Amino acid sequence: KPEAGPQDNPWSTVSQYACQRRTTLYNRNKILTDALEVLAENYEFIESKGPCLGFKRAASVLKSLPVPIRSINGIEGLPCLGPETMAVIQDILECGSSSKVEEVLTDERYQTLKIFTSVFGVGPKTAEKWFRQGLRSLEQIVSDSSIHLNRMQRAGFQYYEDISKPVSKAEAEALGQIIEEVANCVNPDITITLTGGFRRGKEFGHDVDFLLSVPGPGKEDGLLPAVIDQFRSQGILLYSDFQESTFDLSKLPSRRFEAMDHFQKCFLIIKLKTEQVVGQQAEQRCGREWRAVRVDLVAPPAERYAFALLGWSGSTQFERDLRRFARLERNMLLDNHALFDKTTRQSILNFYVSGRTSQAVVTHPWGRNTEY
Ligand code: ATP
Ligand code: MN
Ligand code: MN
Repeated sequence: KPEAGPQDNPWSTVSQYACQRRTTLYNRNKILTDALEVLAENYEFIESKGPCLGFKRAASVLKSLPVPIRSINGIEGLPCLGPETMAVIQDILECGSSSKVEEVLTDERYQTLKIFTSVFGVGPKTAEKWFRQGLRSLEQIVSDSSIHLNRMQRAGFQYYEDISKPVSKAEAEALGQIIEEVANCVNPDITITLTGGFRRGKEFGHDVDFLLSVPGPGKEDGLLPAVIDQFRSQGILLYSDFQESTFDLSKLPSRRFEAMDHFQKCFLIIKLKTEQVVGQQAEQRCGREWRAVRVDLVAPPAERYAFALLGWSGSTQFERDLRRFARLERNMLLDNHALFDKTTRQSILNFYVSGRTSQAVVTHPWGRNTEY
């Protein structure tokens, strides 16, 4: 009997790394990936990192497939699908649903944590604490005077309805215009780049992410505070959380994987006037003159622009696997600040380029319309 070779596995070219898989926005296995993501989220709520990542990784693999999966045999040979994942997929393919997933969906704890963590500024820890105190709804939280909310959470509740509504591409573009104008008042050399999900071609997002860059060393100093002041004086700043840069070139490369970077950044809530959004339907405006939108701004040093842009383009799974790929397949360390070659002990692309030139250096690997 001849040995099983790659010709017997139709999926032999599917990589275990998201950054090696071409993935379009059109997900043909949404029923399966939604189910796996529910399980991942549930594990996230109990802070069980390993299983959470396992289900996320499996969902990401299925998102990259060019065909819908119709039988359990059809996914044999795919990477990252563990026995638990296989069991869930089999249940859905054979019975239309998975009892494990249904159990989570009807679980009071899952349902409550899902609602609580939907508030800007509320993570699994706070949500869990409120749940243990017997709280079950957002109404109960706002009416309970014994609960202390921090500034971010107060804004989260205040603008809850608006910021839980998806942001459209047209709204993101309108915001881009506003930020462009505001930033140009501060420094005419600024380049604004739309990043995050919209850079990957998504039609909707939960926020809008921008990278601000100015050519020249140190020219980004004080940039975001000035931009925030400008928003404030225009009366469109609803909330701001500014984080000063803690970036230190001498500390590169970072010893451990860091999800967060050290660049100057801010998390904002901005008032977007509906008249500024091109193509907004009159009925969608509902008589409202503005809506609140979550906006993230990052201002890395010019020579770090390429890494910052790559790191903020997402998706989270893509970024995670890109770093893992660098480490395990190339013996390199990648984060939002640098790429370090462990073999030659040298930083790669450790060059100085202007904000504009470095834009040519990093384009998203698969171009637009990608989701991982
Ligand atoms: P959505 O449409 O839901 O906003 P998204 O992909 O844009 O999806 P974000 O949460 O906005 O998701 O994050 C965009 C990218 O920025 C992600 O790749 C994430 O890793 C990165 N990112 C977000 N917050 C930080 C942070 N504080 N430090 C470093 N990187 C961050
Ligand atoms: Mn985003
Ligand atoms: Mn964001």
